[in-house]
Amino acid sequence: MKKIVSLLLICVTLLTVLMFTGCGKVYTVEDIKKEGKLVVYTEAGFAPYEFIYDNKLVGVDVDVMTKVAEKLGVELDIHDVNFDTIVGAVQSGKAMVGAAGITITEDRKKSVDFSHPYTKTEQYVIVKADKDIPTVEDLKGKNIGVQQGTTSDILVDNLIKDGTLDGTTLTGYNTPALAAAALDKIDAVVTDKLTAQIIVKGSNDSLKTDKLLKADGNVAAEPEAYGYAVAKGSEELLAVINEVVDEMIASGEISALEEKYNDMAN
Ligand code: GLN
Repeated sequence: MKKIVSLLLICVTLLTVLMFTGCGKVYTVEDIKKEGKLVVYTEAGFAPYEFIYDNKLVGVDVDVMTKVAEKLGVELDIHDVNFDTIVGAVQSGKAMVGAAGITITEDRKKSVDFSHPYTKTEQYVIVKADKDIPTVEDLKGKNIGVQQGTTSDILVDNLIKDGTLDGTTLTGYNTPALAAAALDKIDAVVTDKLTAQIIVKGSNDSLKTDKLLKADGNVAAEPEAYGYAVAKGSEELLAVINEVVDEMIASGEISALEEKYNDMAN
């Protein structure tokens, strides 16, 4: 009996330790080569970084990950999932990399490691074309839509919690485009710059977008930088990703791809 109790205790302790360390799985380059594929999670509703074109998943992140897989000598195995599950999937080892225009934040850094930043963005607001672009203060008491689990979601949620957006309702959608499609029911959508501009481009002049500013003209949130997410401690894999990212930034390829996919989307 005593033995069973101590075994149980050991199990509970182990489980607790695993819970707090996030049960992370570190893939070495050797592990990845053995698997023969680089398992990447993304969310395909985020042009120009990942979107469906001609029934194919394309975009800046897809091209960067294709290069990383080539460098590793393996196939790219990319999966389209809900954005708010990606960091957890990377943390648990279901995915080797999260590549989804993921903003590098201090909070996410507690769960995963990030590559060098590969591009920057800022928060934009989308409204119906016949409305004025609202300031943060104008959004008080209104209904706002965001993509669930994104930095836009976190920003608006914090503004509600700190009282700036008293009485504002926040609704989470699976993609920014779905949030924009609800603009008859809701008043505004907050999302990242390029994605907002592409949604507006595809709206037949029915929508408009601009930077989300406060009434005093300052930006609502600090500029953000995107990085690729890997399980904490994945130094080898991160080194390969960083090599590709550094090369593609230096050669101007990242910006060229942003333009190419910007034109292709919608
Ligand atoms: N950059 C935003 C974030 O990380 C949105 C990313 C996305 O929707 N794919 O939260």
